[in-house]
Amino acid sequence: MLEKERFAVHWLTHSVEAGIQDIDSASEEELRAVNLAGTARVRALKDEAADARLEPLEEGSMLDLKLELSRRMLTRCAFCERRCGKDRTGESRGYCGVGAQSRYSSDFLHMGEEAELVPSHTIFFSGCTFRCAYCQNWDIAMHPESGRRAEPAMLSGVLLEGISQGSRNANFVGGNPDPNLHTILETIKLVGHGGRFLPMVWNSNMYTSSESMEILEGVIDVFLGDFRYGNDDCARELSDVDNYFEVVSRNFKTACGSAEVMLRHLVLPGHLECCTRPIMEWVRDNIPGVYFNLMFQYRPEYRASLFPAIDRRLFSEERSKAQAMAADYGIT
Ligand code: SF4
Repeated sequence: MLEKERFAVHWLTHSVEAGIQDIDSASEEELRAVNLAGTARVRALKDEAADARLEPLEEGSMLDLKLELSRRMLTRCAFCERRCGKDRTGESRGYCGVGAQSRYSSDFLHMGEEAELVPSHTIFFSGCTFRCAYCQNWDIAMHPESGRRAEPAMLSGVLLEGISQGSRNANFVGGNPDPNLHTILETIKLVGHGGRFLPMVWNSNMYTSSESMEILEGVIDVFLGDFRYGNDDCARELSDVDNYFEVVSRNFKTACGSAEVMLRHLVLPGHLECCTRPIMEWVRDNIPGVYFNLMFQYRPEYRASLFPAIDRRLFSEERSKAQAMAADYGIT
């Protein structure tokens, strides 16, 4: 996973011509069709391990096309499956409350992520598309106006500086990266040649829209995604989200076809049978062998005291049971 000195996929996408006369004046439908065809060309290049003579294009690349698509989407936002349809370039805001100007609370070389990723240069964006009752990052996730302005020119400089300090990848999280798709794409474009070996990590709740997933293929090297609920009722009650299982499972399948995937499952107190088991069963049947991180660090934070069933840490028996379940389903 994440071999050193292997070109990051964004660099290929930045080096491949979109093959369209004028990206700015093309219709969204046309851009979407070209995106699918161009992304297939990038996929083929990736499979060939790429040609070292490729160089980022000043303009007209597949990365420019994806960036333009994201800017169009911002005017009727469907970055995530809430599909608020708001024009975020004006005063309107959707569920996440994030405007056109992304904000972030911090960035640093994170040593607490999975061993395969660290040091991981993590950027914590403000705002989120979920309202998890037990959110550990609620101070930034629930306050989209908090933090500093996330300017792509500055963020790309910060990421390049991080490479010299030993970072192995750029990790976009929050909150959640989805509301900041346009900012992240522009940042990646500006990283350019200097970041050609810097893989990009999309660290999310996997409630991304299918259109955004199409844009992300060819830009993102690793989907580091949460799969938390095994049914829609628990998702609605604890994260205020509808149609959870269908959307998240769809995105994990898509991600497995386009990039490396690291699935995180945080075991919730009292949710072994309703959540942990159905997720493991689905993984066994649909994406067997996927990197699966079974996580036990739940602690009741934020508004967890309003939900008595999750207002405690895990019992040690729950941990053992989850581990035994994983062994039963062939998850290691
Ligand atoms: S990113 Fe925000 S505004 Fe856009 S669809 Fe999702 S919740 Fe709504």
